[in-house]
Amino acid sequence: MASIKNLIVGCGISGASLARKLAEAGEQVVIIDAKDHIAGNCHDYNDNGIMVQKYGAHIFHTNDKEVWDFLSRFTDWYPYQHKVLGLIDGQFVPIPFNLNSLHALFPGFMADELEKRLLENFGLNKKIPILQLRKTGNKDLEMLADYIYEKVFLQYTLKQWGLAPDQIDPNVTERVPVYTGRDNRYFAADKYQGIPAEGFTEMVRKMLDHNDIQVKLNTPFDKTMEYKQLFYTGAIDEFFDYFWGELPYRSLRFQFAQYNFPKFQQSAVVNWPCNYDWTKSDEHKYFLNDQSDKTIISYEYPEAFQRGVNERYYPIQNDESASLYSKYLEQAKSLKNVHFLGRLGDYKYYDMDKAVARVLELVKEIAK
Ligand SMILES: Cc1cc2nc3c(=O)[nH]c(=O)nc-3n(C[C@H](O)[C@H](O)[C@H](O)COP(=O)(O)OP(=O)(O)OC[C@H]3O[C@@H](n4cnc5c(N)ncnc54)[C@H](O)[C@@H]3O)c2cc1C
Repeated sequence: MASIKNLIVGCGISGASLARKLAEAGEQVVIIDAKDHIAGNCHDYNDNGIMVQKYGAHIFHTNDKEVWDFLSRFTDWYPYQHKVLGLIDGQFVPIPFNLNSLHALFPGFMADELEKRLLENFGLNKKIPILQLRKTGNKDLEMLADYIYEKVFLQYTLKQWGLAPDQIDPNVTERVPVYTGRDNRYFAADKYQGIPAEGFTEMVRKMLDHNDIQVKLNTPFDKTMEYKQLFYTGAIDEFFDYFWGELPYRSLRFQFAQYNFPKFQQSAVVNWPCNYDWTKSDEHKYFLNDQSDKTIISYEYPEAFQRGVNERYYPIQNDESASLYSKYLEQAKSLKNVHFLGRLGDYKYYDMDKAVARVLELVKEIAK
């Protein structure tokens, strides 16, 4: 490859947003990806009229108008509002746990009493960390806190992270929320939410459709490539040949199933904290309200990340990984023409809106 002015590694939402912003600022860009498709983790494809999200359920949601307006240049949105159900004690109830979940799981007189106590203590439509429920001094609310912790949080977390209960960071436990309201939407706090009307891949394709952007798939980054500036959305530890050691991640295995009937479950995503080895099942036709006699489900099985075997999904955040990452970050600062970004470059769990916001900030910084 001849010397490139701006080389972007990774055609996910981070790399693609950056490519577009640079091209619109008059820069020539080459963007590469090791995979045979664009859109990274958000990649979706049409399977006989059902839009399937290859790497599990992706719902766009944000309060950031700048990000929403930027992406809206490349797509219309299907105004999907995400709801999650969890199988708890044989009932599919709203997750996060709210007053509707309470009434579905407890006998009427108990649910009425617990609702009264919750509202007296915290008021309507409040998000209460479970630890606070434990501290009210009220025996009924403490019982409720223990129930939610055990049935909704603990079993799910053990599967998700492959940890023993005593290895779970108490700070995480503290944040498990209970909602004292009846709004079943998962992202109720976000003003903008939706699924790109023609899918995420098409949105990213439109972003990359610019005369000054050249896309090369099936092209892993290699150190012999020449560039004036490099923007790297791959794993930062891989870039430095694991000099300080390997940053830990949790991975997932997606098992797809097609059923010859129209509907499998009552919401796009169902959590299975206490049953089976999968954590979630995603029913893909919900996202764009696709109509079909068939349905496609993906089951998510959390597993350990192994290099060369599966993909990096969730950074495992603890003191050790933070200290390891800070060494890579220091090393990165010494490279004046290399920028790291994206969920793998920054070693951070980003929702899509945060990944795009990071790009918009970076572009402003570079322009200074
Ligand atoms: C299971 C799951 C569910 C999620 N659900 C949601 C959701 O509902 N809503 C939401 O907002 N966010 C969700 N996210 C987060 C979302 O996936 C990320 O915000 C988004 O993917 C970040 O985009 P990115 O471009 O930074 O990274 P990626 O999408 O991972 O893209 C990075 C790209 O770089 C390429 N690459 C890496 N290394 C190299 C290399 N050396 N050479 C060439 N190419 C390379 C990879 O192949 C990849 O295509 C979810 C994440 C997961 C794992």
